[in-house]
Amino acid sequence: MKVAVVGYPNVGKSSLVNRLSGSREAVVHERAGITRDRKEIPAEWNGRTFTLIDTGGLDTEDPDPMAGSIREQAQAALDESAVAVFVIDAQAGVRPGDEELADLLRRWKKPVIIAANKVDHVGDMALAHEAFKLGLGEPQAVSAAQGLGTGDLLDRVVELLPEDDEEADDDIVRLALIGRPNVGKSSLLNKISGQDRVIVSDVAGTTRDSIDLRLEIDVPPTPREVIIVDTAGMRRQSKVNESVEYYTTLRSTRAADRADVALVICDAQDGVTSQDMRIAEMAMGAHCATAIVLNKWDVTEMDEAQLKHERAKVANKLRLRPKVLTASALSGRGIERLIKEALGLSDRMRQRVPTPEMNRWLSEVTSARQPPQKQGKRLKAYYAAQVDTNPPRFQISINHRQRLTREYAYYLENRLRERLSLEGVPVIIDFTERG
Ligand code: GDP
Repeated sequence: MKVAVVGYPNVGKSSLVNRLSGSREAVVHERAGITRDRKEIPAEWNGRTFTLIDTGGLDTEDPDPMAGSIREQAQAALDESAVAVFVIDAQAGVRPGDEELADLLRRWKKPVIIAANKVDHVGDMALAHEAFKLGLGEPQAVSAAQGLGTGDLLDRVVELLPEDDEEADDDIVRLALIGRPNVGKSSLLNKISGQDRVIVSDVAGTTRDSIDLRLEIDVPPTPREVIIVDTAGMRRQSKVNESVEYYTTLRSTRAADRADVALVICDAQDGVTSQDMRIAEMAMGAHCATAIVLNKWDVTEMDEAQLKHERAKVANKLRLRPKVLTASALSGRGIERLIKEALGLSDRMRQRVPTPEMNRWLSEVTSARQPPQKQGKRLKAYYAAQVDTNPPRFQISINHRQRLTREYAYYLENRLRERLSLEGVPVIIDFTERG
């Protein structure tokens, strides 16, 4: 869980982060100017642990409030955070730069606490009140230098942090194995957890009737943690006489809702059926990065040409073009590949593409195919940037939304999918108008 500490230069962000994290060795001037990258510092308060993102590294390198880079830095930190601490200098009062950041924060929609810093004496408390006018609630008076008010500030941060939920940990892959009954989901689960490189370390239930399986997979350099969600449903359904409809829709939907990667398991003997397609569509609709697996490859009579046909069918029917893989839970063939693919899908869900690369891509694809024009007026696309992950979300600024055709929007989306290997990954593109 991350907490972004944002604010204009020299308001005391880094000193405050040091206070809040209780880290004494991290001295402000030691760090400032060394790196433009933000710092992430673990903190703990009242038994809750969280990470403070210090965007203060910019302060001494950019003494001049270059609005662009500060906003960008703040936005990048906000994208990943659950709560923001907005630091202002109470002695200097509310400045135009603060107003600008306040604008950004009001649009952010998650909890924000204003920390009115440099209230070094109890007698100066009134200075904090001015920040009320930023429209972000009651300011909290603090003094990073004196350590005043920081306990109250931490109380509020912890109060506003969302409950520890399953999405909290960024590195864990949450995987759903879904599909019709008898396609081999539980057999695959057993095969995957039986791999040499896999340690099944824990079985934990998040809700009473859903059991998750935690796997540690040895992929150098760092082992990866995968949680296979809702395995109880998978195991139970063969015993309980649940209706096919109940099983496939409700169970699959529930698993997909809790996962960020879904493998839609199919029986290779049937090919990818229309029901399998619907399950894949549902999974992608639930924002899962998705691949389709033709299981029981050991008994199918499908040949390469037919497989190619299945792939074309999927590409035709499903706009996000999930990959079609083959596997056999019986022989173990293709299992390594499945694991690799699931990890890769998770990585692509979380990847962050640098803005210059996005802009290079935009200029390439717009010159490869000219933007459309309507009534003699041509669409212009100016900039592209990634604004969020999991699922990846991008923003493309254009001159006029009315000039954007559906076809051209799909063209851009498909090129982006190709460039970033986002087959089966849900992507959001916001087209914003810029005069
Ligand atoms: P689930 O309902 O999707 O969990 O399916 P199960 O794992 O219970 O498998 C259904 C049936 O298919 C069982 O009889 C399995 O032994 C069989 N099965 C599963 N995977 C394979 C496979 O790769 N090859 C073959 N030949 N049979 C399989």
